[in-house]
Amino acid sequence: MQGVYVHIPFCHRKCGYCDFNSYAGLDALVEPFLSALIAEIEQSPYAGERFETIFFGGGTPTYLPGDALAQILERLARRFVIASDAEITCEANPGSVSLAQLQTMRRAGFNRLSFGVQSFDADELQRMDRMHTPDDVAQGVEWARAAGFDNLNLDLIFALPRQTLERWETNLQRAIALQPEHLSLYALMLEPNTRFYHLYQKGKLRLPDDETQVAMYRLAQQLTAQAGYQQYEISNYARAGYQCRHNLIYWRNEPYLGFGPGAVSYMGGKRWTNIKHPREYIRRALAGEPLELEWEQLTGWDAVAETLMLGLRLREGVDLTALENRYGMPVRERYASTMTQLARRGWLERTGETIRLTQEGLLWHSEVALAFFEK
Ligand code: SF4
Repeated sequence: MQGVYVHIPFCHRKCGYCDFNSYAGLDALVEPFLSALIAEIEQSPYAGERFETIFFGGGTPTYLPGDALAQILERLARRFVIASDAEITCEANPGSVSLAQLQTMRRAGFNRLSFGVQSFDADELQRMDRMHTPDDVAQGVEWARAAGFDNLNLDLIFALPRQTLERWETNLQRAIALQPEHLSLYALMLEPNTRFYHLYQKGKLRLPDDETQVAMYRLAQQLTAQAGYQQYEISNYARAGYQCRHNLIYWRNEPYLGFGPGAVSYMGGKRWTNIKHPREYIRRALAGEPLELEWEQLTGWDAVAETLMLGLRLREGVDLTALENRYGMPVRERYASTMTQLARRGWLERTGETIRLTQEGLLWHSEVALAFFEK
């Protein structure tokens, strides 16, 4: 499979934990950004390529009017071959959507929405600098259903400052009660250059201890399973048939083409990143100049290790025979002792030719991944 990613960099304000390539206060750039994005699509050398998924992320894609999102989608469909049953997702922030906007998007072909909910607790939302209220979430979901979306994801974050296990349980219950088809449940990551990070360094961010964080993760697994969701990735849970096909492309290390500032592409083994700041992106795209900020060619054992690192996030695991055939490398031989050591630690299990993380290993994915990168 192959996917398209479109990056919309605008936000109403910057959240305290966010290190995404997103900006508040750039309203004046919205119009030129649209022209630049369309120019980038029209200049793409991959015209005629077939894609099975499209994902609009950000930033806050729903910062743009429904017509503008529809126009971008229409330009993509003109330039590329989009599968008739393609999964077409747009990220949306509760509080930044309207019924009319969602109806326009649905008519244009979007068929999946991913709401950045993060929490149902007003205090937690405020601490994160989120703009929406808990009630906005229910309203957004109601409008999405009314507009005809039958594939919804809710994103939540746990291990938030001052969050207790009980509060997290309430958040989970409220999310499940809205009956989304998919849930993404991530632990808070402290990223440099965020307000949270600076507070933490000054000792002003009270985070749940490690034991509570593990309990929160286990609770998420338990409550989602009870509600009929299947965990198919470390942090992602879906009803049968509703796994996110676009993200599966990333986790299976398959090709994708990115548009917009900071967007990453991975085609033909080459991975590249677009220039990040919207102003410079716009200037270059409108002038027809190269947009690449950096690139690398993934080959040999680097490509194998990358595929293992990503694939082990999935509960389906990684098929070693398929991996050897894909890269023509003796994967089993090279990693025999690594796999034995990881299995001894209780982090990795092997069934036939498939390896995957154990329940314990799910908590140690970064260490497992590092082991496969060691030369
Ligand atoms: S809305 Fe999303 S992308 Fe924008 S600042 Fe907040 S977390 Fe970052």
